[in-house]
Amino acid sequence: MKGARELAKQEGLKHYFTGLPCKHGHIDKRQTSDGTCMACSREKSAKWTLLNREKYLELKAVSNDKRKHKNQAYARMWRQTNPEKKNAIEANRRASKLQRTPVWGNHSNIKMFYEVAEVLSRGGVLFHVDHIIPLKGKEASGFHVENNLQVLPWHQNLRKGNRL
Ligand SMILES: [Zn+2]
Repeated sequence: MKGARELAKQEGLKHYFTGLPCKHGHIDKRQTSDGTCMACSREKSAKWTLLNREKYLELKAVSNDKRKHKNQAYARMWRQTNPEKKNAIEANRRASKLQRTPVWGNHSNIKMFYEVAEVLSRGGVLFHVDHIIPLKGKEASGFHVENNLQVLPWHQNLRKGNRL
């Protein structure tokens, strides 16, 4: 199939397929940039990995590290742009840590409180979802359930925190 590579190039595809065997007998996709058979390329890199185990592990560690940093940066950005979702996740994590979400808690109702807080926060004042009875209070411990939740503007929530 002549022209498959040109066609792939035109369409901006990374790979193309001719159905014809390469010089090593593989019938596989080819790389558009240089026509390399993907099976050959896999074999080559597998061979290289075997022969250069130390270097391979080193490169892998570097790329893992890079990915980790990238993920961390992304997570940080996400938390900044989605403060209410972040708060919801943290509250859930806290609650499950304390095992304060009983099986009878209605998860979609709980979620609604966070959605309400998020919508209200769009007005410019940040709203928090507050536990009426704190999850780990001095006198009583509340549950992470809908009838123990209320949506408060952040300053009231902080005031409440000081009082308790
Ligand atoms: Zn090949």
